[in-house]
Amino acid sequence: MIDRYLSAREEMVDSQIRARGILDERVLAAMRLVPRHIFIDSALRTQAYDDYPLPIAGGQTISQPYIVACMTELLRLVGHELVLEIGTGSGYQTAVLSRLCRQVYSVERLNSLLTQARKAFDSLSYFNITARLADGTLGWPDAAPFDAIIVTAGGPEVPPPLIDQLADPGRLVMPVGDQKQQQLRLLTKNNGRIQTETLAGVRFVDLIGAHGWKN
Ligand code: SAH
Repeated sequence: MIDRYLSAREEMVDSQIRARGILDERVLAAMRLVPRHIFIDSALRTQAYDDYPLPIAGGQTISQPYIVACMTELLRLVGHELVLEIGTGSGYQTAVLSRLCRQVYSVERLNSLLTQARKAFDSLSYFNITARLADGTLGWPDAAPFDAIIVTAGGPEVPPPLIDQLADPGRLVMPVGDQKQQQLRLLTKNNGRIQTETLAGVRFVDLIGAHGWKN
C-alpha cells in the first residue's frame, strides 16, 4: 500500500520530535512507522502530522505528537514489557507503545472511541494490543503487574490501584493537576521504593472515574 503521508511523518519526527530533544531511536522509529492519520477523523486527516492536538469523538483529544513521544520515552521501553495504558482514545498512543513492548493493555471508558480504536488496530494488524471498556483508574488487576503504566488523561492524583499494579522495577507516567492544567509526573518503583519526579506542564482532558474526577 502506498503511504501518501510517509514524508509528512518523517518531517514530523525530525522537526517536532527529534529537534525538541527526543533521542530514543526506538521511539523515533515507532513514530516514523505508525500511520497517525489512520487514527484521525477523515475530515481532519490532512492535519494528522501537524504540531498540535486534534479533536476526536466524545469531546476528547488526540495528544500533540511531541507529547506522545515525550511520555513514551519516559517509560524507557526495551521490548519485553507488559504496558498498561489508561485512556485509549483514538488508539494512536496505544499503537506507538505496541511497537515498543511485548503487550499493551489499554482501558477506555467511552465505547465509541474503543470501537474505532480496535478497528484501527485490526486494520494495521497490531495484534499485541488488548483493549477494554472500563474505569481505568482501577487498573487491570487480572493482567498486573505492569512494567510500565501510562495515563493519557489528567487527574488530581495518581490512582492508588495503578501504583499497586506497577511492577518492581517499574515506571509510571501521568499528568497530575487540576482540570485546567497539569504537570507530567513520573513515578519509578525500585526495590519497594517509589520515587516521584514532576516534569513539564501539560493540558489533558479529564480522567473520570473512582480515582479521578467525578463525572
Ligand atoms: N491516548 C489518547 C488520548 C485520548 S484523550 C490518544 O492518543 O488519542 C484521553 C482519553 O481518556 C479519552 O478517550 C477519555 O475517554 C479517556 N478516559 C478518561 N477517563 C478514563 C478512565 N477512568 N478510564 C479509561 N479511560 C478514560
